[in-house]
Amino acid sequence: MVEDSHASWVPPNHPRRESLFIRERLVDGFRDGYVAFQGLIAHGRGECFDYLVGESTIPPALTAERVAAAALLTASHPVISVNGNTATLAPRQIVELSKLINAKLEVNLFYRTREREELIARVLRESGAEEVLGVADDASCTIPELFSERRRVSCRGIYTADVVLVPLEDGDRTEALRKMGKTVIAIDLNPLSRTSRAASITIVDNVIRAIPNMIKFAGEMREMPRDELVNMVRNFNNEENLRSVLTFIRDRLSELASKGITLEFPKP
Ligand code: ATP
Ligand code: MG
Repeated sequence: MVEDSHASWVPPNHPRRESLFIRERLVDGFRDGYVAFQGLIAHGRGECFDYLVGESTIPPALTAERVAAAALLTASHPVISVNGNTATLAPRQIVELSKLINAKLEVNLFYRTREREELIARVLRESGAEEVLGVADDASCTIPELFSERRRVSCRGIYTADVVLVPLEDGDRTEALRKMGKTVIAIDLNPLSRTSRAASITIVDNVIRAIPNMIKFAGEMREMPRDELVNMVRNFNNEENLRSVLTFIRDRLSELASKGITLEFPKP
């Protein structure tokens, strides 16, 4: 359950209370100056795909979350890339995950301004982060073949990372990071986006659910033999997993289409 002190106007019995709370967080982040206009649009796109999966974690997403935890636990230099939407949706959870898997946190923005990067770093520090990379002069290395502001990264962070977790990523950068030979873990509700299709491990789930699931799995798997974790990652096939996501959505929609979906009301 998402708690939010700012959304007191939402009636307690509103059928979409949780979704409205989450939306309100985006608005708060926008008003505080670190969620971009475009981040609000991206959130709406995510909500649409969340309806298609039934607003819950579907089996192929659980598999990808487990494999992603294994990839992060066995990485030599894991980094979590944070943008405005992620910082407002799951700040404490992102910090908790980074501590559990020993990953660095790095701010990386498509719509980069000095003010936004510093505000996001502050949100992360207030949520318990000790170090946040990618702010101001720290973002001095360049991802080749990338022309958006997202090309600027920390030389101690994303630039040298072997595994990068990118919640709500842009397709271009996912491709550029893959071309650099990195393992890219994406969290993206749209299984058809370029990000989803370019990532090494795609988690088709809401960031709100995916990060806590990964925390749980990383906690459980920490004591597992390294070989087993490495094999889990090696045996994962992202193409197959994305097909399972599409099949799940297709079957779910077929079932709904045959059952009927209108809400019941008293006859007039
Ligand atoms: P791409 O660049 O990968 O082709 P895009 O341009 O449509 O995709 P972006 O705006 O770059 O998308 O990235 C936002 C993505 O994040 C969208 O695919 C959207 O569905 C997804 N998204 C938005 N909110 C969430 C959320 N809370 N959890 C998971 N995914 C989300
Ligand atoms: Mg994009």
